[in-house]
Amino acid sequence: MESPSVGPDGDTIKHMFLDFMQMQEFAKHPIIMKKAQGVWYEDVRGKKYIDGLSGVFVVNVGHGNQRVIEAMKKQLDEITFAPPLHSTNLRAIELVKLIASITPGDLHTVKLLSGGSEATEAAMKLARQYHRQTGNPHKYKVISRYEGYHGATMGALAASGVTSRRSTFEPLPAGYIHVFPPTCYRCPYGLEYPDCAVLCARIIEDVIKREDPATVSSIIVEPIGNTGGIITPPQEYFQILREIADKYNVLLIFDEIITGFGRTGQMFAAHTFKTTPDIICMGKGMSSGYSPVGGLAFSDRIADAFYGDQSKGVQFNHGHTFGGNPLSSAAAIASISEIKDRKLADAATNTGARIWKRIGELDNLGIIGDVRGKGLIVGVEFVKDRKTKEPFPSEVGFGVRVGKAAIEKGLIMRADPNWVALAPPLIMSAEEADRMMDIFSSCVTEVAKSVGASPSS
Ligand code: PMP
Repeated sequence: MESPSVGPDGDTIKHMFLDFMQMQEFAKHPIIMKKAQGVWYEDVRGKKYIDGLSGVFVVNVGHGNQRVIEAMKKQLDEITFAPPLHSTNLRAIELVKLIASITPGDLHTVKLLSGGSEATEAAMKLARQYHRQTGNPHKYKVISRYEGYHGATMGALAASGVTSRRSTFEPLPAGYIHVFPPTCYRCPYGLEYPDCAVLCARIIEDVIKREDPATVSSIIVEPIGNTGGIITPPQEYFQILREIADKYNVLLIFDEIITGFGRTGQMFAAHTFKTTPDIICMGKGMSSGYSPVGGLAFSDRIADAFYGDQSKGVQFNHGHTFGGNPLSSAAAIASISEIKDRKLADAATNTGARIWKRIGELDNLGIIGDVRGKGLIVGVEFVKDRKTKEPFPSEVGFGVRVGKAAIEKGLIMRADPNWVALAPPLIMSAEEADRMMDIFSSCVTEVAKSVGASPSS
């Protein structure tokens, strides 16, 4: 194994397993961050990078936010742990109250957890137990989407639809049914919006019928799907899902682990898409990453099914040691308050528009097939031929090359073979956005030239 090139602790990297990471490759040129401020990272060599991905859709209020830091410092002196098994604490109560005030509809009850996978797992378990307690003990199946990602733990992975992340670990738990996502640009049914009448949503009714409605507990979806390439459905997609879910007494779960807390231009994508689910899963931007935190917010209808005489045993049979951790709660309260008070969801809309405009200026390169997203989550799909939508051959890896060039020039973003994504902190200024887009544009132009793209096709 080649030795890592950086630092006295370089050898230790051989003994770390980073997320979904080919460690031997990473160890050759490891990126080791040392500090961060605002929208900037600095690595151990002193190289600066614009954080064009908010970590991974996490650092919504930016790095080094003093309000969050001060809240955490204060909390450290008060109390840092109170087990959710036999108590709670003031910060957890305050956080639940705050979340209930920003969620849509009557999603007033909150279970605090420590991360995204915990949230999606808990949501699917909550749905099963809810049905069991309301006279439908056979409703257990979960409908989710190909290309979706709901976490790395077994249940969350079973609901996920990313083949590369799933297949190694099969067989996964039973009872998870996948449907095609709303990838309008490459419709799985070969249709065009709006003539399609949103078949990708309507077909879920047929799936429920064929599975037997008495066996289906929930539908879990990301409002905007990251892993498939910032899959952004038509506006009515979720209203159709809501109607189907209501018709068959199936709970609608929004995995807002990426889209929550201002990212899509409103506090939750549920607001952006004007649809209230039964359960919202949250994580990532909930504390902007200052401390691990996650949670579920759910409707009064669900919550009520879990209140009852002790003899009925209707409590939610689920928990994690660090749920409602006081330090994490303090960080989340401060971060969410920043998003509210500084109107960072509006900022996401404005900065997002600025980014879209700059991407539009690259149109004459002839390789941008589609631009997708809402607010400050923007995906760009590259194609070899815009008319036929033919992608670049996989060995070209256009998006990955753009991502590598960007790292060289000091910009971090999400890069896949055929698409890239930008999702910077919501506090990004106009000047910083322009600087980010200067780097982005020069990288895309450079890679387009290197593959001999013919402009304006
Ligand atoms: N859901 C979505 C939409 C995610 O993007 C992620 C993480 N990338 C998860 C769930 C899992 O979250 P975590 O990594 O915090 O377990």
